[in-house]
This record gives sequence, structure tokens and C-alpha cells, in this order.
Amino acid sequence: MLVRAVTIIPIEVVVRNIAAGSLCKRLGLELGMVLPRPIVEFYYKNDDLGDPLITTEHIEILNLASPHQVEGLKHHALVINGHLQQFFGQCRLNLVDFKLEFGVDNDGQMILADEISPDTCRLWDQNTDDPRDRVLDKDRFRQNLGQESAAYQEVLRRIVEST
Ligand code: UDP
Repeated sequence: MLVRAVTIIPIEVVVRNIAAGSLCKRLGLELGMVLPRPIVEFYYKNDDLGDPLITTEHIEILNLASPHQVEGLKHHALVINGHLQQFFGQCRLNLVDFKLEFGVDNDGQMILADEISPDTCRLWDQNTDDPRDRVLDKDRFRQNLGQESAAYQEVLRRIVEST
């Protein structure tokens, strides 16, 4: 894989289509509720602080990104969401939510960085409604559901099959 070197912007950009994880905990939403539209959240990439949720104003006073870059982060995140939803939909997988990171290359251009994988996405199997069986991502590990590698291999199998 050929990639360009970037300076990472210390913001985790999360896109959500369905309520899960910290969104349910924070807002009391029911797990699995389909959101009326995709939403974008920003988290400060800072392990000492536990990667807190931040607002655009926090981003400004911390000087993490310019207002123009923040607009770009949101725009790119939603466009990527559209592509990924279609991509995973062909694999009969629901893209619940995912995390992106962006960086700035030597030409000053902001580009997508880091990985997109079942470690950074929530993917639910469209072939079952069982809340334990449908999980094909890192939540199998986080929630102690077991069969992590079988789940990841199933995601790979469906991607290979559909491409
Ligand atoms: N996520 C990630 N890395 C992180 C935090 C979250 O890849 O450090 C992904 C996570 O896999 C999920 C989405 O971002 O797909 C939203 O995560 P959430 O805020 O619900 O946090 P979690 O429940 O994972 O703690």
C-alpha cells in the first residue's frame, strides 16, 4: 500500500448512523435506534484526558484545526459515510458508526489518514437481528462476546465476495 506522510490532526472524527456505544450512554438513546440523519462528532485525541468529546469552539481555542479545516472534516466524513454505507450495504452489513482521522501532507492538503477496519467501525450483520450474533466488529472483544477472528473473517469474506 502506498500512502502519503501526514501530520495527524489530533481530532477523532466519529460518524454515526445508528445509536450505539458512547452515544447511548451519553444521551440515553436506545441501542440500535436509526438516527434521523448521520451525525458527526469530534473527540480530542489525548490519552491523558481520555479522548473527550469536544465542540468546534473547543477545537478553536485549543488550536487543533482551523474553522475551514473543521468544515472540511465534517464534509469529508459525511461523504465517506455515504461511500462506506453503500460499500458495506453490498456486503449485507449495517455501518452503525466509525472513526476517522485526518492529516495534513507536505503540500498543506488535508487528507484521510489512519485505518478503516472492524477495529474502528461498528458493523452489524443484516442477516440477523440477534443483538449478540449481529456484531461483527471490535465490540465482540469489548463486550466479551468471543469469536472475534471469525467475525473479522466473515467481514473479509463478504468484502471479497462483493468486490
Ligand atoms: N472508535 C475508535 N477508536 C476510539 C474510539 C472510538 O475507532 O478510540 C470508534 C468505535 O469503534 C466506534 C465509533 O468510533 O465505531 C464510536 O465509538 P464510541 O464513541 O461509541 O465509543 P466506544 O463505545 O467505542 O467507547
